[in-house]
Amino acid sequence: MAQSNTYPIQCPKCKGQQDEVLYDSFDVAKEPELRKQLIENRLNSVTCVSCGYQFRVDKNLLYHDSTGGWMIYWQPGDPEHPQQSMESFDSVLSDLQGVLPSGQSLPEVDLVLTRIELVERVFIREAGLHPKVLEYVKYLVFTQNLDQFMPETHELLFNGQESNEENLCFVVKNVQDGKLETLLQYKRETYESLLELFVQDGELSLVHQLFPGPYVSARSYLMTDV
Ligand SMILES: [Zn+2]
Repeated sequence: MAQSNTYPIQCPKCKGQQDEVLYDSFDVAKEPELRKQLIENRLNSVTCVSCGYQFRVDKNLLYHDSTGGWMIYWQPGDPEHPQQSMESFDSVLSDLQGVLPSGQSLPEVDLVLTRIELVERVFIREAGLHPKVLEYVKYLVFTQNLDQFMPETHELLFNGQESNEENLCFVVKNVQDGKLETLLQYKRETYESLLELFVQDGELSLVHQLFPGPYVSARSYLMTDV
């Protein structure tokens, strides 16, 4: 069931105040319309009653897919400084566990910091791909193409529509002007063998060593590590 609450909101343009009902969480299996709203950038969007300005309110949001058995928690933050978000995620998890009926355990919960990451992660989960291994693929793509695009200026986004049985498709997006620059193909076969290694080696795997925390982002890793 979707959960929402009334929040005091200030218009970023005219500074007018108003109360707005915003979503805190929803289960896409029960409310598929909210998935559509999220992807079309209409979820938690507000129109100012004073000046008519339309804006999106970025707030914590729990995206739940009870059919798929996974959750994604969006805690708005800066991918260049993910430390704080990671530290407070443990208490988010115990809060979530606390509201579940007793005996029921929490499914896997991914942490994302931006709306783009949330939408992308929905596509990754729906495609049945492993977020950590997929981010490792991005890490490899980034490090092999640093002469063409850098994590500081570009992000790589998984494109589910263009992916097929042979290739996983990624879009190279310029973060400064938001333009999509190129499409990249990555052999699914290589992804599958990385996945196999990851499952085999568990905590010893390269993938796990690169992303030990709850926030898994190749771009963030590369930006904070240099
Ligand atoms: Zn306004």
